[in-house]
Amino acid sequence: MGGFNKVLVANRGEIAIRIFRACTELGIRTVAVYSEQDNTALHRFKADEAYLIGEGKGPIEAYLDIEGIIELAKRHDVDAIHPGYGFLSENAEMARRCQEEDIVFIGPSAEHIQTFGDKVDARAMAIKAGIPVIPGTPEPIQSLQEAILFGKEHGYPIIIKAASGGGGRGMRIVRSQEELEEALNRARSEAKSAFGNPEVYIEKFLENPKHIEVQILADNQGEVVHLFERDCSIQRRHQKVVEVAPSVSLSDELRHRICESALQLMKTSGYVNAGTVEFLVTPDNQFYFIEVNPRVQVEHTITEMITGIDIVQAQIRIAEGYSLSDPEVGVPPQEEIVTNGYAIQCRVTTEDPAQNFFPDTGRMLAYRSGGGFGIRLDVGNAYRGAYITPHYDSLLVKVSSWAVNFGQAAQKMLRTLREFRIRGVKTNIPFLENVVQHPDFLSGKYDTSFIDHRPSLFE
Ligand code: ADP
Repeated sequence: MGGFNKVLVANRGEIAIRIFRACTELGIRTVAVYSEQDNTALHRFKADEAYLIGEGKGPIEAYLDIEGIIELAKRHDVDAIHPGYGFLSENAEMARRCQEEDIVFIGPSAEHIQTFGDKVDARAMAIKAGIPVIPGTPEPIQSLQEAILFGKEHGYPIIIKAASGGGGRGMRIVRSQEELEEALNRARSEAKSAFGNPEVYIEKFLENPKHIEVQILADNQGEVVHLFERDCSIQRRHQKVVEVAPSVSLSDELRHRICESALQLMKTSGYVNAGTVEFLVTPDNQFYFIEVNPRVQVEHTITEMITGIDIVQAQIRIAEGYSLSDPEVGVPPQEEIVTNGYAIQCRVTTEDPAQNFFPDTGRMLAYRSGGGFGIRLDVGNAYRGAYITPHYDSLLVKVSSWAVNFGQAAQKMLRTLREFRIRGVKTNIPFLENVVQHPDFLSGKYDTSFIDHRPSLFE
């Protein structure tokens, strides 16, 4: 077992800083990479070493430059690369190239990234593991005729999904056969331009489901544990906005079955490192697999708050070769993993709710954050004088609150959001305040249609 001396984080923003912190606590030296456009971004100042990447390349391309990053890692004696989320985190080629160069990729194997990066293959794996999946086509759709047949057999609405889709993109709901041809053509061309793969498949569209996902940790000796669930039903355009752990509205019996299914899938597939198994739960309490995210997720923080387990440190220890049962990893045996209280995460973004969440850019003239007992902040590029560019994801800071009961956690969140003072760029804070004080949110009576059905949230 080789402990790491130096870890490079091939990412930016809050997740890069989050990973540096985990490394530093483990006594590991940290390396940041930054693009030309991120010259003054906060993450580059938070590592022990920082290097410019992608000179002359675009702002996104810099962080996607596999060979450039690997070459830099070798030059600076890096033992392992953590990809964070987004960018190269679900790129099987990155995992493969790291392996070839004797650099540890802190994540699952290239094969697992490949399987779970393709939603059709992931469904097939779930079926193999005996996990319920949403009725869908077992293969990508080749013709309009196949799509029409599926609609006839299962009824509308249906949802066309890009096989390589992610981040809530590449999905199209179809409510009648008349819409089908155009929707299929559009979905294909969008999938090709967004993900480089035109393949799409069809699923029955479930009305008003909850999005429930299970956090998994697995070592390379075959030990797998779950850290219970998160409810990520508060979404806008299929993207998560507010997350809660544990779910307020699951019975213990249903929670148990969902967590066991997630374990079963990861065990069947031989998965290693941290991952999340996502499900939709219908109003009549049926649950169905939707996908696996083979990486650390934005919302991992709230699971850490309710279990006390540091997921990023566990990822690093697992990648070093530790077994989960080693006390160094900080993960108790499954029967001793319990949840305590409730945690809520809000994604504060530089998006203007009054302008249909259009990303705002410019100089941040003031930045003062909320805080206090039970509050965790994972700050990206936020400080007075920071320049918010249009190049990247608009996530500014993740605010997570914890309290013994859900209502208190929501109160604490509201109070903290109200303490923020950000000037120079617009944020979605007013919208988030409306969400966390909404009676249907507080009573746990919400599903993935919550935001769409409540125009008052935008006021
Ligand atoms: P992505 O990989 O882009 O995040 P997912 O497959 O995880 O896509 O789905 C994201 C969200 O889209 C889900 O949380 C849910 O709100 C919605 N969704 C996806 N598939 C369905 C479906 N078959 N029926 C209803 N909603 C769905």
